[in-house]
Amino acid sequence: MAPMSDHEIKDDLPSNFIRSIIDRNLNENLYQNKKWIGSPGGASHHANAPLDSAKIRTRFPPEPNGYLHIGHAKSIFLNFGLARDYKGACHLRFDDTNPEKEDEEYVRSIIDNVQWLGFDWKFKDEDNLYYASSYFSFMHEAALSLIQSGDAYVDQQTADEIRENRGTLTAAGKNSPYRQQTVDENLTLFAAMKSGKQPDGAMVLRAKIDMASPNINMRDPAIYRIKHAEHHRTGNDWCIYPMYTFAHPIEDALEGITHSICTLEFEDQRPFYDWLLTKLKNNGLLTDPLPKQHEFARLNLTYVVLSKRRLIELVTNQHVSGWDDPRMPTLVGAKRRGYTPAGFKLFTDRIGVSKADSWIDYVTLEDAMREVLNTSCDRRVAVLDPIKLVISNYAEDQVEDCFAPNHPQDESRGKRVIKLTRELWIERQDFMIEPEKKYFRLYPGNQVRLRYGYVVNCTGYDVDKKGQVTTVYCEYLPDTKSGSAGADSVKVKGNIHWVSCEHAVEAKVNLYDRLFKVEHPGANSESYLDDINESSLTSITVQLEENLVNIKPMDQFQFERHGYFICDPDSSSKNIIMNR
Ligand code: ATP
Ligand code: MG
Repeated sequence: MAPMSDHEIKDDLPSNFIRSIIDRNLNENLYQNKKWIGSPGGASHHANAPLDSAKIRTRFPPEPNGYLHIGHAKSIFLNFGLARDYKGACHLRFDDTNPEKEDEEYVRSIIDNVQWLGFDWKFKDEDNLYYASSYFSFMHEAALSLIQSGDAYVDQQTADEIRENRGTLTAAGKNSPYRQQTVDENLTLFAAMKSGKQPDGAMVLRAKIDMASPNINMRDPAIYRIKHAEHHRTGNDWCIYPMYTFAHPIEDALEGITHSICTLEFEDQRPFYDWLLTKLKNNGLLTDPLPKQHEFARLNLTYVVLSKRRLIELVTNQHVSGWDDPRMPTLVGAKRRGYTPAGFKLFTDRIGVSKADSWIDYVTLEDAMREVLNTSCDRRVAVLDPIKLVISNYAEDQVEDCFAPNHPQDESRGKRVIKLTRELWIERQDFMIEPEKKYFRLYPGNQVRLRYGYVVNCTGYDVDKKGQVTTVYCEYLPDTKSGSAGADSVKVKGNIHWVSCEHAVEAKVNLYDRLFKVEHPGANSESYLDDINESSLTSITVQLEENLVNIKPMDQFQFERHGYFICDPDSSSKNIIMNR
């Protein structure tokens, strides 16, 4: 597979509301005086920097607590795509401010996935791969500055009390009894939080905004908590960690992000995002232009679950063989199933970017993949459910070359040779003892064409004790070979595929069906786990044409009349495994 070139398949710019915002911002010269020294930092870091030569900066900020899924692909194409189209930079940022659940294994796989989709985080000589945990010192400094400007306080209420006093959608919250502490008291308490002597949950640092705000997120949100946990990058340096809603705007600002694009559930966080960055600007830690948050609708796809928590559950409870099980909606799973970067690009272009939440039918994704694979994949022949066909009037030692095009719509890809012999494998379903209506394939007395070979006339069959057909007999009409002058002398309605018993290669094929039986797993059942499709994997032994003997892992083909198949990473020359 050649992802990079495939990737350029269609490069018109789908218009969307985010592009309109960027166009407007660029017209307003919003970033005209934006400074950037080449690495992330606050106001003093960039003070003497040259102007930023990136027109815009976006970021893709996964938390390294799981494998990326198809929903993330939408965000990757959006963020990296915008940067590419507007001559800007897109940063890959690991949002690793939560010490628990994060792991280097996830970091590596996320890097692989983004590259697989055709992107990198280079801009000119910048290598924009960052870890939010590198900003812990700045975040700590930012917290201190908020305390000093009277915009944050250490609350010693219990978690329950804080929850109770937060109020409801209709009732205002109650001020904490600790809200009026002096700056010095808060500084002392915050130092105590950091000292390591306080247990988890003993105190929390809160922004001081408005306990009566109609937006609950503005009712003195927590910004720092105590957490005695080892971090995968900073080890035990810290026992206090910033809350996501505090950390994320700061990460964006330090990296000079212009457009911080996130999913709709963060819409109510936007006022806090702006509040925080404005305060830090007023306190001298940041400068204009500050990043702006814009929300878009996340991808919801039928028949799958797109939440890392649930995907982790599927793996740990062994409903699937691992993160890269071809039934998983992870990008590693999709890759193993034969889905391609070009297919994802086509899919994301088609579904577009909007502000309204909706469900996308899984078929839309499959159609995009098929469309791309139809162009990119060569054809091969495989018999998935073999029964024997004997051509009685064909000599036992005779072998003949038949020529099959590698791609029916693209002659330039040439032809390959398939050997014809007296005994062939054909599909069980291509023969019927008693034909049903409109059945044009083999049955006693009927003629069909052996694709790329001769027209044959069915003369009989054998069955075993259970009545199952084991062998079908036929005679070929010598003047009718495909490509020869007499090919059209006999007209037949059926055309079946076959492989030579002598030359065929045996292989295992995994036929995958959807992992869930219903469109919206969990919507009408107690748990989405109840909706798992128990027969989503069928493994069979098949016969492949001889040209596939040297197939390599990740090679992809269309098996004529059967769809698209990819050679599994665990496949070997002795033990070929193909996934549909
Ligand atoms: P999950 O809910 O699966 O854990 P997440 O949002 O917590 O996903 P992050 O690692 O925080 O995962 O996400 C990284 C980026 O991917 C975020 O900017 C997020 O908005 C985006 N993203 C995650 N899921 C989707 C989705 N279904 N559609 C579009 N974008 C998504
Ligand atoms: Mg998240």
